[in-house]
Amino acid sequence: MNVLVVNSGSSSLKFQVISTDLERIQQHKDDRLCQGEVEGIGGEAIVTFKNKQGESQKFTTPLRDISAALDFLVRFICSERSGVPEMKNAGDVQAVGHRVVHGGERFTESALIDDDVLKGIEDCIDLAPLHNPNNIKGICAARELFGKSVPQVAVFDTAFHHSIPEQAYMYAVPYHLYRRHRIRRYGFHGTSHRYVAFRYRALRGLTREQTNIITLHLGNGCSAAAIRGGSSLDTSMGMTPLEGLVMGTRSGDLDPAIVNVIARKEGISGFEVDTLLNTQSGLLGISGLTNDMRELQAELKEHDDRRVRLAIEVFCYRARKYIGAFLASMGGADAVVFTGGIGENSPDIRARICANMEGAGLKIDPASNQATVGREGKISTDDSKLPAYAIPTDEELLIARDTVRVILSEPHPS
Ligand code: ADP
Repeated sequence: MNVLVVNSGSSSLKFQVISTDLERIQQHKDDRLCQGEVEGIGGEAIVTFKNKQGESQKFTTPLRDISAALDFLVRFICSERSGVPEMKNAGDVQAVGHRVVHGGERFTESALIDDDVLKGIEDCIDLAPLHNPNNIKGICAARELFGKSVPQVAVFDTAFHHSIPEQAYMYAVPYHLYRRHRIRRYGFHGTSHRYVAFRYRALRGLTREQTNIITLHLGNGCSAAAIRGGSSLDTSMGMTPLEGLVMGTRSGDLDPAIVNVIARKEGISGFEVDTLLNTQSGLLGISGLTNDMRELQAELKEHDDRRVRLAIEVFCYRARKYIGAFLASMGGADAVVFTGGIGENSPDIRARICANMEGAGLKIDPASNQATVGREGKISTDDSKLPAYAIPTDEELLIARDTVRVILSEPHPS
């Protein structure tokens, strides 16, 4: 089955075509036919594209909205120019899998999209006003293009965390606010935490029930998850993706009273403070330079800039603090697993996060840490009581697999 995986944002659309079926899922032999991104939708859009042979293309074309972008994309993939011989016309797309950011309390697993499910995703707009409307646009565009006969599946960022118990998801605010407005922790990056937990147990030959780990997704957005018995027990992101770890442009945890102080002192609205905490804070905010960890590391090496160093230190300290917190809430873990652009590729940041954790049983092995970049592997010493691993995430693959499983009504393990 050729599954088109779609992640539609406000002006961008990330996509992959993955050919898979139940047998290939079992054998971990799914076939990624192509992938890419359309950015700047609404004007002269930039299309980046890569096929299975690794041939890349980058070009611009005017695309007025998500619908036009999807239409263009499918026609491009099916043209000779793309170099994807498996795709000759739109009929070669047999299913569509959508990343949907917020599934609220209703969606505890991936769902086949019908009118009722679409309405459910719309009902979650209040919880994710910046994300769900764009995801819905992607779903509607695909329906328009392929018709109702091509099944579509929604895979939710929040779903994996549905197992978090009440004591971890409740905020200590008046209970009626939870009843009235569903104010609670939901957690995000669920597809990534779930995929990495799955790969960890495959790597170690463990069952789902034997999987007790702390996963750290460190990309542009960052989150930690405490996974016990294969299920999410707690996570650092909250009602929105703003809570928890320090991120590229998000502050993560702070004293909630600060929101009002900033609003008053800077003469800006609550909404503007929210934007400031989401888009101008984190690594970018402290360094004053960039949200990109690679650039910060290069800058540190070249100029030893104080604020760049501070940004990296605050980032690493917060991550270490969460490992400690989750070790306590889980009653100990069997491993710490790093993923995401930073977690997969930066031995330096991993080493900084795990520094001085020998007391907690975690000892990084400098050689294997350095050698494990962009691939799966153990990065701790053999005598480390709490081992650490790096495992590249693959959210698109999990979306494609869930799409197939949901369509064939196979139970999909979390
Ligand atoms: P997103 O959360 O948007 O999916 P990614 O998972 O791609 O983002 O992660 C992006 C982050 O990963 C950026 O801060 C980038 O600098 C960082 N990154 C990627 N490669 C490296 C590397 N080799 N060393 C350090 N940081 C890296």
